[in-house]
Amino acid sequence: MGLASANKGILFVISGPSGVGKTSIIRSVLERVKNVVFSVSCTTRKQRPGEINGVDYFFISQEEFDEMIRGNKFLEWAKVHDNYYGTPSDFVFKHMDDGNDVILDIDVQGALNVKKNFDGAKFVFIAPPSYQTLGERLKRRGTETEEKIQRRLETARKEIKYIPEFEYLIINEDLESSITNLISIIYAERLKFDKLKETDKVRNLLKEVQ
Ligand code: 5GP
Repeated sequence: MGLASANKGILFVISGPSGVGKTSIIRSVLERVKNVVFSVSCTTRKQRPGEINGVDYFFISQEEFDEMIRGNKFLEWAKVHDNYYGTPSDFVFKHMDDGNDVILDIDVQGALNVKKNFDGAKFVFIAPPSYQTLGERLKRRGTETEEKIQRRLETARKEIKYIPEFEYLIINEDLESSITNLISIIYAERLKFDKLKETDKVRNLLKEVQ
């Protein structure tokens, strides 16, 4: 299925290990860049303190999740650390049709599924400066037990191996640079001639000089 078209928004798929700082980077980018929206995923995971239902995730039951799979309501879904996560497709398509860019924060399996099934999405991997710093960050975040941290680190090891599948790589050395880098990627994609050539402005400009 093709997602790319002149007047449509762009789909940015952002992946990277848990604890790498994806959420903070994306949050700031959403505040600073116009016409970009965040796709709120559905999950069967328990709500963490501070998380808001409908903002961070839609926290739903396993039955509700299964029902959505059966109803073909997900653009992609995956099981991550014993919980299910999925991207509701209606929201993504509606915003892209309205010309907004959409950001997905999804795991690597989900990203690879989007890559397989849709043309035109842009893939960004956010990596830690080193594997070791990731462990330290997860511990500092303090939201997970030691056992869960170990599992997330194991998953991270596998995810990092998939970096070559991604088009863009941001190494999250410091938050501010990573925010600037993600914003640059969004603007660069918006400015591609291939994307702009079908717009009235560019068509008219080229017609004027013929
Ligand atoms: P967390 O439980 O820490 O919020 O997220 C765990 C992992 O699930 C993260 O890597 C996050 O990117 C991923 N994730 C969140 N929403 C989705 C989704 O809709 N689909 C997929 N495939 N992964 C998701």
